[in-house]
Amino acid sequence: MQVFKFGGASVKDAAGIINLSEIVRKHQHEQLLVVISAMGKTTNALEKLTRAYVEQSDDMQAAFEEIKTYHYDILSKLFAENDKVFEEVNNTFVEIEWMIEDEPHDDFDFIYDQIVSIGELVSTKIVNAYLNKSGIKSTWIDVRGYIHTDNTYREGIVDWDKTCASIQQDVPKLLEKGVAVTPGFLGGTSENFTTTLGREGSDYTASIFASCLQAEAVTIWKDVPGVLNADPKLFPDTVKYDELSYAEAIEMTYYGASVIHPKTIKPLQNAHIPLLVKPFLQPEEPGTVIRETGFIEFNTPVIIVKPNQVLLSVSTKDYSFITENHLADIFKLFAQSHIKVNLMQNSAMSFTLCFDYDEQRFEKLFAALKIDFKVKYNTGLMLLTVRHYKPETVKQLTAGKTILLEQQSRNTVQVVVK
Ligand code: ASP
Ligand code: MG
Repeated sequence: MQVFKFGGASVKDAAGIINLSEIVRKHQHEQLLVVISAMGKTTNALEKLTRAYVEQSDDMQAAFEEIKTYHYDILSKLFAENDKVFEEVNNTFVEIEWMIEDEPHDDFDFIYDQIVSIGELVSTKIVNAYLNKSGIKSTWIDVRGYIHTDNTYREGIVDWDKTCASIQQDVPKLLEKGVAVTPGFLGGTSENFTTTLGREGSDYTASIFASCLQAEAVTIWKDVPGVLNADPKLFPDTVKYDELSYAEAIEMTYYGASVIHPKTIKPLQNAHIPLLVKPFLQPEEPGTVIRETGFIEFNTPVIIVKPNQVLLSVSTKDYSFITENHLADIFKLFAQSHIKVNLMQNSAMSFTLCFDYDEQRFEKLFAALKIDFKVKYNTGLMLLTVRHYKPETVKQLTAGKTILLEQQSRNTVQVVVK
């Protein structure tokens, strides 16, 4: 069997869904599981709605209407007015309606998952209905009953044994009957609440299913020709890699290459399942293959840009040295705030950490750190990582920018710039 994953850009409009169905049609008899993300920028829009609800702000209804209108416009281009998909989608949106009528509960991450998950539920119901309408037999799977997570909302930790047991029990039977479509990004807790696996987590969903089902391959269909050495939205001249090792791909995603979700590769490597990254607009093109490889020479450096970074320095209130005990306390607060550190450096009097800015999490962390430490920070920074670097690449990239922190190893250089 095979797993295909289609991200938001591939289903951002009616034409995208038609294109998806043509790709699926060619493979419909090969035992195919299709993982789909929310359409276009829906997850961002749902995040906005969540914030508006939590803050009880006036633009909450407008934010919700915008999301509904976007989906109904696409639906009306794909289906006749009386198609039952309208009701199905409507019923899914009603779940948000009920929720936002009530006063917000105080666990932001919990609320976030219950609202934001609607994006994937709706997109997959639409695509599944469209596949069936266009003659491709397809079944919708409620992923929340298969991918079992703990209750770490916004970053559900997968219980692999339970997940694989559920998947193995039902999914092979379903795939014998036709294509199966499942939402990406979502999981479910033992109390049947919805969790999400972290932004861009649909790739990880594909990897979980593939690994539990011993798939022949996973294909991630993208709006780029494959894995490129840099983000084409930021750099005009990018080069596509034809082949990458699992190890290199893991490093790239770890440092923030957004082409693949960081948790995706390891399960595939363990199960020896190749990962293909291919362009959905040129499905016959080979894209990039990620698998076990021999030595690959890198003539083109990998450039990874992470915007929206915070650089935070912690020092003691009594001007004493930063000791291991302090570090232990600092890390504990980072872990409790669910903040991942991208880079760190210590000196006698301070300890500096660089991480992604997330308003809610940052405020929680800052309040907790301030109790025992002096804290200084800078936001709006950029973390640049270059792998297989040449000195001139780094010089070019940082020209005219203020470097706040720099770290270098044999293969990788990282700089935080303003
Ligand atoms: N829709 C989610 C997001 O935008 C998950 C995904 O796209 O993989 O983060
Ligand atoms: Mg996405």
